[in-house]
Amino acid sequence: MENLVVLTGAGISAESGLKTFRDSDGLWEGYNIADVATPEAWDWNPALVQDFYNMRRKSVLEAKPNAAHYALAKLEEKYKVTIITQNIDDLHERAGSTDVVHLHGIITRSQSSENPNLTYPIDGWELKMGELCELGSQLRAHVVWFGEAVPMIDKAAQLCSQADIFMLIGSSLAVYPAAGLINFVPAYVPKYVIDPKIPSVYGIESMVEIEEKAAIGVPRLVEELLK
Ligand code: NAD
Repeated sequence: MENLVVLTGAGISAESGLKTFRDSDGLWEGYNIADVATPEAWDWNPALVQDFYNMRRKSVLEAKPNAAHYALAKLEEKYKVTIITQNIDDLHERAGSTDVVHLHGIITRSQSSENPNLTYPIDGWELKMGELCELGSQLRAHVVWFGEAVPMIDKAAQLCSQADIFMLIGSSLAVYPAAGLINFVPAYVPKYVIDPKIPSVYGIESMVEIEEKAAIGVPRLVEELLK
């Protein structure tokens, strides 16, 4: 089976009702990311950060996968599909994809604020101040903040280097190190980019640009790839 590697960003979940942030002037649901998605923000005002992610978790639990998520799951009929997602939602899994690497964590789990390797499922949408990990430190959302290490990046780079077909869906390629992953895909490998606003990339060969929203462009491409 051919290796099909897909890198997804916030855009694939836009039609499920989850907002991207580059599309709204660098704000994420009205918040400046420095105030809610950095270790400094957590040190300064942990209750605000906790609240922000509680709201994001609530929206994720209320959202449903869209046609793009479902189409990617269908690709497993013919390919060995690995999805590398920058998203913290669980819509790929809920659509049926079985191999999903979460580069930036997943909001349905909590994480020790002392040891990032200690993660736990969350019952419902709310993580409260005062809920502690086994080491006795406050639990926070299991997400990678700006300025934190991205532990899965080496694995993701290796997966990209082994791709026979590559897809990039709904990412502005503005957030590093995820944005650099496309450079690990061999030059000759076909690279399909699906985004209503194709991100600018330089020096990348074999790129096919599909300037469409994910819920339209992905099912159409998947149909072609399954022929
Ligand atoms: P981004 O917000 O920087 O870029 C979004 C991209 O999606 C843009 O290129 C935009 O043109 C495209 N887009 C908008 N609507 C689309 C649609 N209907 N179909 C396809 N593409 C569409 O997102 P990013 O590159 O993923 O980086 C943002 C960071 O924010 C990520 O690290 C992610 O962790 C986080 N984030 C996650 C979620 C989520 O989990 N759903 C939502 C917002 C932000």
